[in-house]
Amino acid sequence: MQLFNLKDKSEEVSFCEAVKRGIGREQGLFFMDKIEPLTDIDGLLRLPLVERSCKVLRHLIGDELPELESIVASAFTFKAPLVKADDNLYALELFHGPTLAFKDFGARFMARVLGAVRGESKLTILTATSGDTGAAVAAAFYGQPGIDVVVLYPKGKISPLQEKLIATLGGNIRAVEVDGTFDECQDLVKRAFDDLPFRAQVGLNSANSINISRLLAQVCYYFEAAAQLSPAQREHLAFAVPCGNFGNITAGLIAKALGLKARFAIACNVNDTVPRYLASGKWDPHATIPTLSNAMDISRPNNWPRVEALVKMQGWSLNDFAYGRMTDEETKATMKALYAKTGYILEPHAAIAYQVLKDNLQAGETGIFLGTAHPAKFKDTVDTTLGIDLPLPQALAARATLEDKKTELKPDYEALKAFMLQELA
Ligand SMILES: *Cc1c(COP(=O)(O)O)cnc(C)c1O
Repeated sequence: MQLFNLKDKSEEVSFCEAVKRGIGREQGLFFMDKIEPLTDIDGLLRLPLVERSCKVLRHLIGDELPELESIVASAFTFKAPLVKADDNLYALELFHGPTLAFKDFGARFMARVLGAVRGESKLTILTATSGDTGAAVAAAFYGQPGIDVVVLYPKGKISPLQEKLIATLGGNIRAVEVDGTFDECQDLVKRAFDDLPFRAQVGLNSANSINISRLLAQVCYYFEAAAQLSPAQREHLAFAVPCGNFGNITAGLIAKALGLKARFAIACNVNDTVPRYLASGKWDPHATIPTLSNAMDISRPNNWPRVEALVKMQGWSLNDFAYGRMTDEETKATMKALYAKTGYILEPHAAIAYQVLKDNLQAGETGIFLGTAHPAKFKDTVDTTLGIDLPLPQALAARATLEDKKTELKPDYEALKAFMLQELA
């Protein structure tokens, strides 16, 4: 697989190299400059998840990474069921993995790919999270030999359970709560990657959705969604994706480039840089606003350049996207309305995707919205909004009582560097 730095096309790398480097020079993202469509989509859709995913990923990655098939089999060990939530509207439930979030797919795949390609070198994963990434990455890398993990998250801005999932593991996982916003956490990560001597010294790697391996893993469940529908239903598909850093929707668009016939809707909360951009043509990020759908509280989505690159590469138009943005009040009203109508329980991220999908669905289309987190991960909001008492799934209940092992830092690069040098020496 050939990948290029989107900011400097002369930096060309293989898939394995891109996974190791994470991000390219000048913080450029690695991406392909062409995508060969798959030839037999219908045949692929008849295969089970693991077998199909091996074929899709082998097609994309080419003859690198001989361990690919065994990696896929050990990473994708849970289901992604399509559940009917309303008339013509289905939830693709991506939250049945170990940390109950869709990020388990990408993080588990990436951890195994890195384990296979790192050779003898020690690695440090440095990642910023607005919630679920950190939990999924921490779980995926926990106990991986030769790999340390440092997770940065904005203090008080992720849910208590998300924090438990990140901060109670210990071992090779360091949890750092930053007294600032998610964007500041993300800036710290970018600074560290720009600090070339430091980067080399600790073998820095990012597990954010900027890592191409995470995106490729996520391509697989778009096919899994289509596979669960009848051939007639999948003729006219529309996906709505709750967007934060726009990694998930990039994966969906790669699936489309591979030949999955579908339309895409971008669903945002009031951190709506992209919807405003699509409406006005002006890229004008505002300060990030905290919302109930906190994994989408991102005003400078770091995968957007990949979306633009894909649109250009495929000859699509930005006008092809449906989009919508929702306030917290609208989000709660949506959760209530669907619960009253069909009993389906939405958490805030899925609620936004559901509503944007519903608002944009065209006659004859089957709509699929992505359920990116288990409702129990947002138990407080779900319970108070719906007037229910959602039981915590076992995996979460067991962690909720454990003690945190975390370090607090100011959003200051030198402080982070000093902490890491001391911890990882
Ligand atoms: C990460 C996350 C998102 C946003 O996904 P991106 O790939 O960053 O766009 C949406 N919902 C939940 C629950 C998440 O954890």
